Amino acid sequence: MHIHRISRFALTVSALLVSCLAPCALAETPRTITLEELARSLPKEPINVVFDVDDTVLFTSPGFQWGSRTYGPQIVSAGVSVREEDLPSDEDRRKYREFWTKMNNELDQYSVKKWIASELIALHKSRGDRIYFVTKRIYTGSEKLTGLLRSEFGLPADSPAVIFTSRQPKTKAFKDIKAQVSYGDSDGDIRDSIQAGARPIRVLRSPASVNHEPTHNGGFGEEVLYNSEND
Ligand SMILES: [Mg+2]
Repeated sequence: MHIHRISRFALTVSALLVSCLAPCALAETPRTITLEELARSLPKEPINVVFDVDDTVLFTSPGFQWGSRTYGPQIVSAGVSVREEDLPSDEDRRKYREFWTKMNNELDQYSVKKWIASELIALHKSRGDRIYFVTKRIYTGSEKLTGLLRSEFGLPADSPAVIFTSRQPKTKAFKDIKAQVSYGDSDGDIRDSIQAGARPIRVLRSPASVNHEPTHNGGFGEEVLYNSEND
């Protein structure tokens, strides 16, 4: 009888614990922030801000899709960090470099500017902030991405060139440019921002992106920008 009561008590406690899971999960709902809230939260003085490129300022899936079709997903994949040194043959490495040269010099003509990026860059320009771009894309010696971003977003001709980390983490670049606010769609962007001491803001990846690598939006305690997934 006594044992029976204890087990009933234990059952009630575990039922309570289970029912607590929903509000506990709610407490961890991503912190969503609107553009207006973001603008109000920025310091008065000009700051250094950094943007990721793919799926943050440009919807670049057309180029990556073409690359995967043409060279094969083992050589070109939007989400997976394929490294040149991991490829098995000289021919694969040649194709890899050929793709990245095309991606950085030609294929962004099919990339679409993201609406949120236009809004964010206009906001930061109006405040006199210094705007940088850091990408994990592979650099093969030439690029037209800097020029494209300057013309798409109305940035001056002497604005900083895109920094390519060639698949390496972005932490060092973020520290070098003394980034205070950092925008990105990937978990790596958020992780590297936190490590570099920058305030990370998550831009949502478009559901139509060919990058299917999972993201944990808000999972690092970062703010998630409302309505940032669309073009
Ligand atoms: Mg990205």
